[in-house]
Amino acid sequence: MFCNNCGNKIENNDVFCNKCGSKVGPEMGSIVFARQSKFYGSLIPIKVFIDGNLVTTVGNGKEEKVQVSVGKHKLAFNLWSGNDVEDIELTKEHPNIKINFALKMGAVTSKPKIISIENL
Ligand SMILES: [Zn+2]
Repeated sequence: MFCNNCGNKIENNDVFCNKCGSKVGPEMGSIVFARQSKFYGSLIPIKVFIDGNLVTTVGNGKEEKVQVSVGKHKLAFNLWSGNDVEDIELTKEHPNIKINFALKMGAVTSKPKIISIENL
């Protein structure tokens, strides 16, 4: 990557630019959360948490895009059944991904379930 201030090439782990001294932020990527359209729970928005922070809310059959730094993160969908935390990772090779999910209906719980993850 390159310094936003002076354009100098920066090594992956550098925190400061070695030419101008500017702080180098984390490399950013994005995640598209795509919720499959389902009859069950169709009116209930699903909250999406990354590293414990609410980042978006996804309605039935909708897609929402969020900016996320490259690296490992904890992903949780919040619904009436509570949280399930999953580990996800955005890599420098694939900083933009799409997570397809749907509600999974069970006898006891009704949870959002990840169906697939695609590189965009
Ligand atoms: Zn610089």
